[in-house]
Amino acid sequence: MELIINNLSVTYPNGIEALKNVSMKISNGMFGLLGPNGAGKSTLMRIIATLQQPTDGNVIFNGQNILTHSNEMRKQLGYLPQEFGVYPKITAEKLLLHLAVLKGITVAGERKDIVESLLVKTNLYEHKNKNLGGFSGGMKQRFGIAQALLNNPKLMIVDEPTAGLDPAERNRFLNLLSELGENTIVILSTHIVDDVKELCTDMAILDHGMLLFKGSPKDAINEMAGKIWKKQIDKDQLKEYKMEYNVLYEKLYLGKSMIYILSEKNPGMEFQLTDPNLEAYYFSKIKSSKVISEESVLINL
Ligand code: ADP
Repeated sequence: MELIINNLSVTYPNGIEALKNVSMKISNGMFGLLGPNGAGKSTLMRIIATLQQPTDGNVIFNGQNILTHSNEMRKQLGYLPQEFGVYPKITAEKLLLHLAVLKGITVAGERKDIVESLLVKTNLYEHKNKNLGGFSGGMKQRFGIAQALLNNPKLMIVDEPTAGLDPAERNRFLNLLSELGENTIVILSTHIVDDVKELCTDMAILDHGMLLFKGSPKDAINEMAGKIWKKQIDKDQLKEYKMEYNVLYEKLYLGKSMIYILSEKNPGMEFQLTDPNLEAYYFSKIKSSKVISEESVLINL
């Protein structure tokens, strides 16, 4: 299984460049697409889901151009969009059976078996006769996965699935996704670093439409070894430290601020070396891309 993205660019009619010459290769397993709001993640997801055409470039799935073979692609695709609407007054089982017909599962017995096994898989079997309007956020997302799995997809796309889920539901949802990963490509788009850290074997960082990193979370973390220093400061000192050091992120700790900075050598001033982590790598990349895009604005002026 292989998805190849070649020089993909998207410019919307309002002039916004949502993707700028993005190229990468994605193989079996869980792939994390990480980036802040507005990075271009949904635009990329919609193109792969054949719902949108790029301005330039192409996408090849197992040797086939998906832009010119969108019908074939759709048969192999499961997609859970960011905004997943459900009909509130229909039960989970009935809607899945209905969607199964639309996806071409025409034999009634087969349809019933598939729907039942998906309800079990997504932990919704005991709720199968409940109306979807009464489902919690996590249950709705799991229902979204069940409907996306109806056609046994080879490529599964989930766009920001954990936003708004409580920690227990988020865990349950992510575990479900990780079970799919072995024989499928699962692309998980998110702005939550932990979602990627815990589950994905491969990842990319996108910001301002630019691909800033593609590789394993492990490689990203290793690149930060010996460079991340932390210090507890008073909240009102933050501004001053931000001017002096490359502050990647801060965490509130017992009413004080713990700042994490990037420095190749010991910055002194009672900073302590800390274990490298994916947050540090992510924020160092995002910060440098912000500088780049601010520079390009200046140049454009
Ligand atoms: P993300 O999913 O990472 O938040 P999006 O792909 O939704 O990013 O958006 C990338 C950029 O493109 C943003 O600046 C957004 O405002 C813009 N954008 C997205 N969709 C459209 C559209 N249909 N028309 C114009 N601009 C859009």
